[in-house]
Amino acid sequence: MIIAADASPGHGARLTIDLAAIVANWRSLAAHAPQTECGAVVKADAYGCGLAAVAPALWRAGCRTFFVAHLSEGIAARAALPEAALYVLNGLPPGSAETFCAHRLRPVLGDAQELAEWADATQGAWPAALHVDTGMNRLGLSVAEALALAGDPVIARAGIDLVMSHLVSAELPGDPLNARQAADFARVRAAFPHMRASLANSAGTCLASGARHDLLRPGYSLFGGNPEPGKPNPMRPVVRLEATILQVRDVEAGATCGYNARWQAPAPRRLATLSLGYADGYPRSASNSGHALVGGMPCPIVGLISMDLIILDVTGAPQARRGGKATLIGDALDIDTVGQAAGTIGYEILTGLGSRYVRSYVE
Ligand SMILES: *Cc1c(COP(=O)(O)O)cnc(C)c1O
Repeated sequence: MIIAADASPGHGARLTIDLAAIVANWRSLAAHAPQTECGAVVKADAYGCGLAAVAPALWRAGCRTFFVAHLSEGIAARAALPEAALYVLNGLPPGSAETFCAHRLRPVLGDAQELAEWADATQGAWPAALHVDTGMNRLGLSVAEALALAGDPVIARAGIDLVMSHLVSAELPGDPLNARQAADFARVRAAFPHMRASLANSAGTCLASGARHDLLRPGYSLFGGNPEPGKPNPMRPVVRLEATILQVRDVEAGATCGYNARWQAPAPRRLATLSLGYADGYPRSASNSGHALVGGMPCPIVGLISMDLIILDVTGAPQARRGGKATLIGDALDIDTVGQAAGTIGYEILTGLGSRYVRSYVE
C-alpha cells in the first residue's frame, strides 16, 4: 500500500520511503540482542525519512522508547507517539522544564546545572536520563562527576531512571577507545545499580563487547545505513530517490558541460539532464564523482551539479530517454555509497533529503 503519495505531476524527483523495511530493520536489531530493549533514534525528522510516518510504524512494531535531539522534535514526536517514552538528547534548555513536563518529555541531563534545574522543577515527579561523557567531550557529565553523584539525593529528586553514554568510534571495532569507553561506562553503571543503562548506537549494537546494556539506541541502521562499514550491509534499504530525465543530447569529443565547464567529453558522448539538483538535497560535492542508474546501468555524474539539474553521461545506458527515470539512491546505490562519492557519510545524505520531492511511503 502506498500512503501519503502526492501524485501531482511537475515535481522533479520522487522519494520513496519503505516503512516496512524500517520496521524489519528495527526487528532484526531487536532480535540481535533479545535480552535488551531496542529503542529508536528519530532525531532530525527520523533521519530525513519523516517522523510523522516513521514513529507510529515503529510503535506499531513494538518499539516503546524513542530519542530525539531537540525539545521541538520531542514535541513533534509526542504528537505522533502519545504513549511512548521520549528522551531529548540535547538536554534541558534553561527555563524549559515546564514545557518538557507538559509534553511528558524526558530530558537527557548532561551537567550539574541541568540536573539541579530539573530536580528543582520536578521534585522527582517526572523521569529523566543522565548523560555521562566517556570520551566524546561533547555532552554529559565526566565519569568522575557522575561517580561523585552516586547516592546524592539530587539523583532521586531529578527522577533519573536511565544512565547513558555515547560511543566515539563504534563503527571501527578495532579502535581501543571502544573498550576504554565500555570499561568506564561499566564503572558508572555499577555506581547507579538501580538504573537502566544505554550505550550502543547502531554500530555499538553490532560490537562484540559489552556495549548493549539495557537499551539500544540505533538510528542510522534503521534507515538502511550499514552499521558495520567494510562488511556487507545486513540492513534493508529504506530510501529510493528517482529523478526524471528532461533531455538527452549527443556531444562531440572535447565538448564541455555545466557551470565553469568542469567536465570535457573524452570522446563522443550521450548526456542526459536530470530534474534534480543540490537544492533538492543531493550534495553538490558529488559533482564529477557520483553515479546514477539508468536502466540498471551506472552512469557517471558529469560536470558541476546545478541547483535544479544534474548531467549524466548515459553513453552506456541505451534506455536513457526523455521522460525516463534515473535512480540516484536505490538498488546498487545505497546511502553509504552515495555518501562516499560525495566525500561525506550516508548520515548526511539521509538527513539532507529535500522537501521538494514527491514523497511516497510504502507499507
Ligand atoms: C544520533 C545518536 C544515536 C544514534 O546513532 P546512529 O549511529 O545513527 O545509530 C545514538 N545516541 C546518541 C546520543 C546520538 O546522538
